[in-house]
Amino acid sequence: MLKVEHLTKKYGKVFATRDVSFELPDGSITVLLGPNGAGKSTVIKSVIGFLKYEGIVTVNGLYNKSVEAKRLLGYIPELPSLYPNLTVGEHMEFIARAYRLTDYKAYKDELLERFELSDKVKKFGDELSKGMQQKLSICCALLPKPQIMLFDEPMIGLDPHAIKELKDLFAELRAGGASLLISTHMIDSVDMLWDRTIIMKDGEVKAEVDRRDVEERGVSLEDLFFSITENKTEGTV
Ligand code: ADP
Repeated sequence: MLKVEHLTKKYGKVFATRDVSFELPDGSITVLLGPNGAGKSTVIKSVIGFLKYEGIVTVNGLYNKSVEAKRLLGYIPELPSLYPNLTVGEHMEFIARAYRLTDYKAYKDELLERFELSDKVKKFGDELSKGMQQKLSICCALLPKPQIMLFDEPMIGLDPHAIKELKDLFAELRAGGASLLISTHMIDSVDMLWDRTIIMKDGEVKAEVDRRDVEERGVSLEDLFFSITENKTEGTV
């Protein structure tokens, strides 16, 4: 389980996040929803350990910047950062060696097949289109089968086939017990997937919504989102 407690990140006098707390239970999909500048990327980059911040982040009780915790975390950044001198196949082998994976070849082939990269294994990172780079970045992050996966705006730049594969994978990963945190500013892109949505604005969590709450109350996530982010009935969820 991922636990974020009182996460605050300041840039000068600006609060990128302020006192953000939430938990990700195992086997769940949580969406981090908020307009641009809400603090979503800052939360994800803090959890993965790229930023300095105030607060506590733990993974199964382990400090998130420990080696043991890092093995449990996977991160798919908004903008893929690949190695220009490695081919698609070499990227996957590099990850396999870095994580000392032994039984990975079948899963590697499955991932490359699903994201239509099987015929591109000899292409270099910088020979790939932006969408293909994003797909390879996803394959690299998934290969070690992390228990907790953080996706920062994952649908951007993907074609419809890749979006479908990714959504199917989200459901499969959840069924396998993983917990996923998916940041987005586009409500439609996560529609049927989520179990819980955390709505952020101005660096703060404005509401946490369970799918059951929304279904029982007969309201749409979109209506809730706008009522909260446009300050109509803030905090009533
Ligand atoms: P989101 O991912 O929701 O679009 P971010 O987490 O990227 O939001 O940004 C939250 C706030 O922090 C914004 O006001 C943004 O301008 C600010 N911010 C993010 N990164 C930096 C940075 N490196 N330096 C200064 N301010 C930053």
